[in-house]
Amino acid sequence: MCGIIGIIGKTRAIDFIYPGLIALQHRGQDSAGAVTYAQTFHLKKGSGLVTNVFNLKNIARLDGNIGIGHVRYPTVGPGGVEDAQPFVLTMPYGIALAHNGNLINYFDLKNEIIEKHLRYLNSNCDAEVILNILSIELSKMDLKNFNQEVLFSCLKGVYDKLIGSFAVVCIIAGKGFLAFRDKNGIKPMVFGRNGDGYVFASESVCLDMLGCSEFRDVAPGEAVFVDTVGNVFTKQIVEGKKATCIFEYVYFARPDSIIDGIGVYKARLRLGEELGKECLKCGIKPDVVVPVPDTARGSAQMVAEVLGVRHREGLIKNRYIHRTFIMPTQQQRIEAIKMKLNVIKSEIKDKNVLLIDDSIVRGNTSKEIIKLIRDAGAKEVYYGVYSPPLKYPCVYGIDMQTRGEFIARNRSIEEIKKSIGADALIYQSVEGLLRGVGSGDTGFCTACFTGNYPTEMSEKFLERIERDRIRIL
Ligand code: SF4
Repeated sequence: MCGIIGIIGKTRAIDFIYPGLIALQHRGQDSAGAVTYAQTFHLKKGSGLVTNVFNLKNIARLDGNIGIGHVRYPTVGPGGVEDAQPFVLTMPYGIALAHNGNLINYFDLKNEIIEKHLRYLNSNCDAEVILNILSIELSKMDLKNFNQEVLFSCLKGVYDKLIGSFAVVCIIAGKGFLAFRDKNGIKPMVFGRNGDGYVFASESVCLDMLGCSEFRDVAPGEAVFVDTVGNVFTKQIVEGKKATCIFEYVYFARPDSIIDGIGVYKARLRLGEELGKECLKCGIKPDVVVPVPDTARGSAQMVAEVLGVRHREGLIKNRYIHRTFIMPTQQQRIEAIKMKLNVIKSEIKDKNVLLIDDSIVRGNTSKEIIKLIRDAGAKEVYYGVYSPPLKYPCVYGIDMQTRGEFIARNRSIEEIKKSIGADALIYQSVEGLLRGVGSGDTGFCTACFTGNYPTEMSEKFLERIERDRIRIL
């Protein structure tokens, strides 16, 4: 999971990129970077949070009215600073590129670039591979007559090569700004007009913040090119079945974002309503419904409404501890859980507590939270999850790429309940998930819940991805 932003306009791009990246910080805390263009590329990237990487001095040198930015959580590669995005190539023209997603055929493409095209790659990041594929395809064209049609026809060759998820922003030196999204639209990308310029970003919250009154999604398989004088050209490069990551609505995206026309907050309310119905069916009698902060707040309110019981804040989060799910090692995750949450005992003591969470991946967090609630004097602790059991690896850029990571992989609900120490465990159904997020729309990737991958996939492919993942870790 990463966050991207791209700007082209008449004022300094970095003045928009920096606050935009802060708005996207929840999508990755491992590294941050930005590149702008004014006669030459100006690049700054490094490890850590946006506020750690950028300062007044380096912001001052990031000149130019066109720029792209990135926040990263590592999916392929160990996540060293050499893997931080954006990446820059000097030929043809000069291209800078950042992306959100994951290429399933990353290692094949990397080998092809090195062995067939005799190019040197300096990272384990798939953005560098996409950049080189784009550069190779552009080099095949008659570049004396560059125009948007030349660019779009070269993108056809790029789409033919890439398998997986990608939402890409690029600067083409002296020519303009390019954005494109994979044919299933697995990763989100929106764009809108801001005065004389255009803003592209992973989430609409960036566009709200940067003053774009209207925006739309880049469609699955669509490319958008904005030239240096502000003309906008769009083209459907390839057709594909829409399959937006449903986990964006469950967990990743900010509640104030709208993705593919669906408000994330509203989706979470509907998911709570659906989970509330499941809780009614299983006959638990909680005294209070408590969200696991922060993602589950809206859903917990709706569960309480459906059950007709009180909704209270019973767990308080230290805001300065990063999201545990996207911390790279198990040790870091366990430590972070302990430092992250504390209980308001008055809301818990002597009560039957229904905790509401967005998902259970490995089960460590849930187990720790249930223990915290019991230690605070709860009579019974029930655990409601507003997404279904996670069982299959995500191969599209979320850090759950081996099946062994999932507590639900080979366990029954009863076994998971015992393992996390709950008195009852209630999951959302896949149907409830689809109804809740999409009101019946089926254009979502649900692969981590169902095993139905929207792209080319096979058992052999999955095994290889798992092997590569383990090797890198
Ligand atoms: S597998 Fe799950 S997390 Fe990955 S893109 Fe699909 S829905 Fe999202």
